[in-house]
Amino acid sequence: MDAITQKIPVRNLANGDQLSLKTYQFKGSGNAPNVYIQANLHGSEVQGNLVIQKLIEYFQKNPPQGTVTLVPNANPYGLNQKMGEYTFGRFDPVTGDNYNRLYWNLCSGIESFVEENWELSEQDLTNKYFKHLQSVHLDFQTHIQNYGSHYGRKLCLTLQSMANQNEIVLDLHTASTAIEHLYAPAYTSEAHSYLGIDTVIETQLEFEGALDEACFVPWIQLQTKLKELKGRDFKVPVHAYTVELGSQELASQSQAEEQLERILNYLKFQNVVSGEPTIYTPQVSRSVDQYKGIFAPSGGIFTADKFPGDFVKEGDLLGSLIVRESKKSIKSPYSGVLVNQFASSVVHEGIELYRILCD
Ligand SMILES: [Zn+2]
Repeated sequence: MDAITQKIPVRNLANGDQLSLKTYQFKGSGNAPNVYIQANLHGSEVQGNLVIQKLIEYFQKNPPQGTVTLVPNANPYGLNQKMGEYTFGRFDPVTGDNYNRLYWNLCSGIESFVEENWELSEQDLTNKYFKHLQSVHLDFQTHIQNYGSHYGRKLCLTLQSMANQNEIVLDLHTASTAIEHLYAPAYTSEAHSYLGIDTVIETQLEFEGALDEACFVPWIQLQTKLKELKGRDFKVPVHAYTVELGSQELASQSQAEEQLERILNYLKFQNVVSGEPTIYTPQVSRSVDQYKGIFAPSGGIFTADKFPGDFVKEGDLLGSLIVRESKKSIKSPYSGVLVNQFASSVVHEGIELYRILCD
């Protein structure tokens, strides 16, 4: 089966060239959830593009049960933004905005939606709410057409209008220098364990501008309002995650192969892909409140003794800050697992040396 491809213009440049997204869609052949997977919203986080390429090859040979939409290179402007050897694609270079805080909050009109539709069956309610979210999108799109917007906001609305039509959303990122980790809401814990990622950070259920939140928070709020106003229980049908596939600037085919297998395992659990999934239990799963920064107390050249993936105890030596002949030991203020490390050894006071998921 060949994918249906689409080219979507996202930015016209000063010289008149056009930047576009290329999307790949495999139509589902059965009754299964629809899936949206994008990669590389942050320009230097390229590993997910390899995984999507492998997913395309897989679905060409093995058509999915549910419809699968794949968007590699989700931010072409960010990907092309080089500064020396480094890819400066996390922030918009003009506005300074983090691209993954620019999605649109679709939580509007929920009370009147509940009043009009609360007696529908679970399935009809779900279908109708997907349509409601699309109409909120259209209002925002009309607003942009009439009044314009920054590139990042327009890009995010374009991506979101595809993502919000699906029950399953995987936003593939990487961190700085990091082990694989997953941002996932606690209510999906049974399902997301099948992604086979050892370190899970349980996200808040509030909207702060990221894609995963943009996808599931409107449903959480629907669930809350149904209970509050009508005493009705409702199961949130949307599972959305930010999947951190390791370190920025790196691209590994062998890791992409393993990551593909684990995503397919998850899709087997969700009946999107046929086959028996393997059960997996994450090693560490904690609330996002437990995910803390360890900051440089002064500037210097940081030499590390501990690395992402290491478990440390409070007081353990993490490394040293070197300034000319002086050397300052940096000790961990927390016990837990180191997840992410600052990518450069050149640090000023206040730079976040590590992120640690605390015990
Ligand atoms: Zn990212």
